[in-house]
Amino acid sequence: MRALFWFKRDLRLLDNKGVGEAARDATELVPVFIFDKKLLAELNGPQTRTGFLVAALKQLDGQLRKKGSRLYVFYGQPEEIFAQLISDLKPDALYTNRSYSWTGEKTQKKVEALCRKQGVVFKDFNDSLLVPPEKIEARKVYSPFFRLWGLALAQQEVSVLPEPGLLRTPELNWPSLAETIKLIPYQKNRHWNPDYAEVRLKQFDFKGYEDNRNQLGLDGTSRLSVALRFGLVSIRQVFDQVRKKLSADSQLVKELAWREFWYHIGYYFPWTQDLEFQEKRRGLKWLNREEDLRALEEARTGYLLIDAAINQLKEEGWMHNRARLVVASFVTKDLLIDWRVGEKFFKKYLLDYDEVVNTGNWQWSASVGADPRPFRLFNPQLQAAKYDPECRYIRKYVPELKKTPCRQIQALELQNYHPPIVDHRWASIRAKPYFK
Ligand SMILES: Cc1cc2nc3c(=O)[nH]c(=O)nc-3n(C[C@H](O)[C@H](O)[C@H](O)COP(=O)(O)OP(=O)(O)OC[C@H]3O[C@@H](n4cnc5c(N)ncnc54)[C@H](O)[C@@H]3O)c2cc1C
Repeated sequence: MRALFWFKRDLRLLDNKGVGEAARDATELVPVFIFDKKLLAELNGPQTRTGFLVAALKQLDGQLRKKGSRLYVFYGQPEEIFAQLISDLKPDALYTNRSYSWTGEKTQKKVEALCRKQGVVFKDFNDSLLVPPEKIEARKVYSPFFRLWGLALAQQEVSVLPEPGLLRTPELNWPSLAETIKLIPYQKNRHWNPDYAEVRLKQFDFKGYEDNRNQLGLDGTSRLSVALRFGLVSIRQVFDQVRKKLSADSQLVKELAWREFWYHIGYYFPWTQDLEFQEKRRGLKWLNREEDLRALEEARTGYLLIDAAINQLKEEGWMHNRARLVVASFVTKDLLIDWRVGEKFFKKYLLDYDEVVNTGNWQWSASVGADPRPFRLFNPQLQAAKYDPECRYIRKYVPELKKTPCRQIQALELQNYHPPIVDHRWASIRAKPYFK
């Protein structure tokens, strides 16, 4: 049996569900990756993000070559590319790992319909979630979801599959990664290298997570979001490490469940992609002032924690979770900027950008999402004092303050620093009636 394997957000061979199934069933397997033209145009952020993807594909191609195979790479619309590949190769089947994101699912459905029309068997597998949404009844609140999710997880076997053995891949006159990347603008990513994922999984201090995860100046979170986004390691590998060191209700397990909760919400309430989960919070009159958005993007809001966080985002393509929470609160509550605008801003820069997770978190931060608490608001200065008490984060990401004593930073005795674009105390009084 001749099969195509379509890699998407699962760029590895170890513990790859779909690859394992395809390798077992097929006598000839043709691995394919498609740079989705529309998606790349939409993700119009720094070219280093595509640079990271290119490096991840090189890593995958290397893994495949060790198995006697190789990666064929295309640039275009997946359904159009597959129409051509099916007509060229006449495969019996197309295997892939299932997309649960809104955009990914739509694209996948088009390819599935094409396969049906052409008489090609289409098979997809859950590879990205510990408990896929269809296994749990719909829940609107995290805590009851977490209980059901934990029960479902306890009832199933979570094991890590080995890499497949040798793969038989025909020599085709199809483009290689080296050929296709000539068509795509990208830049080398200096901050992230895909081989970090395996190392981090082995070396991260999982036991210290609970104490350190909110401290902005420490390397206290796993930074595995990027690895999970591109599938450089599997969610089962991560969970396997976590359960060896921590209990089933530890904070890190809860965070992994948050990721799955947003997929759960996205699956059962798909309209939340661009509409508020809470009906009573639809149609809010956001201010969306251009000058506020510009100051935010240029990291000159006058709030040091916010400016540091934006610089971190733009330089590294990643932002600490505590900083994401404070920024999203500031954007939606202090500046009254629509959460959809905030979501797009993060989309532009985040390397771990995930439309379902980002949307869920932005709605939650804006108090319009799946969250029983009526209103949340963070004071950026108090948050800085609590989570960056030695000003390590601020000094690292606001370069002009590198040498300023922390005392002075905390007392805000700063000359020549940007004046705040809004007064937080005043803004918080203004915000409350908006969210009534
Ligand atoms: C406004 C906002 C936008 C966000 N956008 C994204 C996004 O686009 N992509 C993304 O992966 N995460 C997003 N997050 C969630 C979270 O900030 C990141 O997952 C986390 O900072 C990644 O760092 P880490 O891997 O060190 O996390 P850790 O603290 O080590 O957590 C381990 C893993 O748990 C998951 N996780 C942790 N917190 C959350 C959360 N709140 N929601 C969902 N999953 C979580 C991630 O997969 C993470 O890698 C967002 C959070 C906020 C507040």
